[in-house]
Amino acid sequence: MSKPVFSFSFSDQPGVTAGISTRIGGHSTGPYSAFNLGLSSGEDKETVHRNRRIFAEEMGIDPDRMVFGFQCHGSEIATVSAPGEFMNVDGFLTEERGLLLNVSVADCFPVLFSDSPGGLTGAVHCGWRGTVAGIHKKMAGEFSKRLKNLSRTEVIIGPGIRHCHFEVGRDVAEKIPEKFLSRAGTDGKFWADLPGLIRSDLIAEGVSEKNIHDSGICTYCREDLFYSYRRDQGVTGRMMAGILRV
Ligand SMILES: [Zn+2]
Repeated sequence: MSKPVFSFSFSDQPGVTAGISTRIGGHSTGPYSAFNLGLSSGEDKETVHRNRRIFAEEMGIDPDRMVFGFQCHGSEIATVSAPGEFMNVDGFLTEERGLLLNVSVADCFPVLFSDSPGGLTGAVHCGWRGTVAGIHKKMAGEFSKRLKNLSRTEVIIGPGIRHCHFEVGRDVAEKIPEKFLSRAGTDGKFWADLPGLIRSDLIAEGVSEKNIHDSGICTYCREDLFYSYRRDQGVTGRMMAGILRV
């Protein structure tokens, strides 16, 4: 899978494309090599903009039809009907066709929602803060409000840092249900399973278990394909995960 974009598959979402950029195929150099899409990463912005145009092309859309957020690990979701950049937003919801909703990640999980028959598309950025704040549950709630039921709603949990590498201290662990924690080798530390928690929360919100597709990929493990903020000790690029309904 040495391609600029790793595609996700839904079971039955006509007209919907979803994927995440890898670190392959762009113009970035050094620690950002080679397909950095994050404006806040520290790399020069012109290179990032060039890479973003490649991402749009790979996703099959005009670069000026993209939606971005300046994310803040919060739980704010913007309902959008036009492209643009939105401040302090960690999730997007739209009823429009032809808009690429993006979230920027490098260990946090992109969680992509689609109900093509109901005309809804959504994307959220779930780090531990956003997950604990319930941004994914909030998105499922927005879908519930607008649709009769969630029987055709499908969700993708993309690559992120998984329990094999996501070690947390007691301060974070106490915010996460015990079921999704296991003791780490280091005293007082835990391994946390965020995608497990996200999945469990979505089922509780009414998303059918068979409609939740977890990529199973750990960003820390896959240095060949993905940036990892923790592995790369903060100096690294960002992937972009996007979803589009045409
Ligand atoms: Zn790992």
